[in-house]
Amino acid sequence: MPGAVLMTDISEGVAAMNAKRTVSDEQKAYFINNRVPGTAFQFPAKQYKDKRRPSGFMSRHCCSEWFDKFDFVGYSVAMDGIFCLSCVLFPMPAHKGNRANVLITSPYQNWKDAQADLTNHTTLQYHLDSKDKMNAFLQTMDKPRCRVDQILSQGARQTVERNRRFLESIIRCLELCGRHGIALRGHRDDGTPLEDTNMSTNMGNFKALIKLVSRTDEDLKKHLQSCPKTATYISKTTQNDLLQCIADFVQGKIVEEVKGQAAGSYYAVIADKVTDCSNWEQLGIVLRYVKDNAKDYRRRNCRRLAWILTNAGARPMMAQVTWPENKEVLPINSSLKSCI
Ligand SMILES: [Zn+2]
Repeated sequence: MPGAVLMTDISEGVAAMNAKRTVSDEQKAYFINNRVPGTAFQFPAKQYKDKRRPSGFMSRHCCSEWFDKFDFVGYSVAMDGIFCLSCVLFPMPAHKGNRANVLITSPYQNWKDAQADLTNHTTLQYHLDSKDKMNAFLQTMDKPRCRVDQILSQGARQTVERNRRFLESIIRCLELCGRHGIALRGHRDDGTPLEDTNMSTNMGNFKALIKLVSRTDEDLKKHLQSCPKTATYISKTTQNDLLQCIADFVQGKIVEEVKGQAAGSYYAVIADKVTDCSNWEQLGIVLRYVKDNAKDYRRRNCRRLAWILTNAGARPMMAQVTWPENKEVLPINSSLKSCI
């Protein structure tokens, strides 16, 4: 979990590693950066037998100089012992035999022979391997740009941004065709607009528009030049999918506007039919409602909206709407000029 540092003493990290629990990179960096107690800390002393002393004992404790000499050592205040941070946090298998327990799974507390033992530890191959790993870790933590996960996430982010840019261009072409009632497809709708096409073959308005836009839109042009044939995002299937997304979005916004009216969720439906040039009867459905607190009407051409609104809890009203502030009665059938 990024940014989560829950353990403060290296002995907790040792317990976690021994239990094979995941220790985050941030947590490892915390242990390394806080491996030495503060200057005000006094290391607890231990008594060692010493015949040269009149008392027969000598007091010894962990020394702060050791942390300068052995940069892989971390002190555990809770256990009054030291651990090898590289062997604990970045364990590598031993080439021969097993790794030592002291310094890795249990704290080192023999202050009498500490320097010699730590020097000896630095010669072990598994320690050297772990140390290399820890150094590489510190380098990448210091330079986030070099971190593989950062590089990968940055690359993924750039790809997403690039994809959004060319997809936006495609959607804008669709939107233009939709707003102006321009048919999308021609006789042949396969292939990409950048391919050489026979002039006698009509590629359709949408793809002709895409070809025109790609002359100045570098992202779209690169996409069309390099995309796999199964991921052009301009096929008839994708056109329909995108149109459906746009329709769902527009309908959602209209439902939101109707339900958010100050006068209540009232609306009116007007329907009329007309016969087109091919003798097919076309039924136009218009939805009318009051927008915000302004006294203007909104009129939307919709086919399924009345059904959607009824299911969404809006109340159909065909006669009139009562304005709550000035009690003015606004006949639904008036002010058609102000409708949009
Ligand atoms: Zn080590």
